Amino acid sequence: MVSEMTEPVFTDTHAHLASRQFEGEVAEIVSRAAAAGVRRIVSIGSDLEDSARNVALASEFPGVLAAVGVHPTSVHEVDEDTYLDALRFLAAEPKVVAIGEIGLDFYHPPQDGSPVEVWRTRQERFFRAQLELAESMGLPAVIHQRECAAEVDAVLRDYDGRVRVVLHCFNGGAAAVRDVTHRGRWVSFTGIATFPKATEVHEAVVAAPEGRFMLETDAPYLAPVPYRGKRCEPAHVRHTAERVADLRGCSLQAISAATERTATEFFRMSEIYKSIS
Ligand SMILES: [Zn+2]
Repeated sequence: MVSEMTEPVFTDTHAHLASRQFEGEVAEIVSRAAAAGVRRIVSIGSDLEDSARNVALASEFPGVLAAVGVHPTSVHEVDEDTYLDALRFLAAEPKVVAIGEIGLDFYHPPQDGSPVEVWRTRQERFFRAQLELAESMGLPAVIHQRECAAEVDAVLRDYDGRVRVVLHCFNGGAAAVRDVTHRGRWVSFTGIATFPKATEVHEAVVAAPEGRFMLETDAPYLAPVPYRGKRCEPAHVRHTAERVADLRGCSLQAISAATERTATEFFRMSEIYKSIS
């Protein structure tokens, strides 16, 4: 029986391959991922420079796709008059599958010394403008939120039905995951799902409807058990998949099939690969 089963495959839907922490090592990291069954990696942008590096990596490695965007903690470094044109230019590249990561972050203090209200208002302007960009380009958006779930929800209500969004590194509980997925949004789970004390996330993993959740590493951050505290890389998404299968009481094959289908549809990956082949 076992010999007839194909090896489960996975997509790391959120990694930062352009991170300085991976400099000069991306080829090895991508091949270690492939050896663990992680065939596709969506490499996420956090500012313009980083987004451009992701686009270059996507054209170099067949299994790498890119997202481009300005992270809420980078908004002070970006020229508000020109960044949307720069992003639009990058997003037109064939292997760009999303705008992200974008959103709000109320955890980190203002990075430019401005008053907190000014900083948050600037974050929201960038968030909304990039959601508009995603809509105009027919791309989904990858959402970052930290200590501002209600504020992010309020913004996203204006875009439900207009832009497909995934709440990355979802760390709410069962009720929260039901609420956001009922609104037509997606979530993705990181290595936090493998942490023994992350009971809220465990409940969210169980409650998430099939077709509405994906897997990610957020590499180089958030390594799952047994690598917790070390540098994370896309190959590790397999450990998160194993824990998610455990929590949901299903096989690793079933998690692979469900999350591959969801990621393929969410990021329209089949169309992308067809268009470049
Ligand atoms: Zn990230």
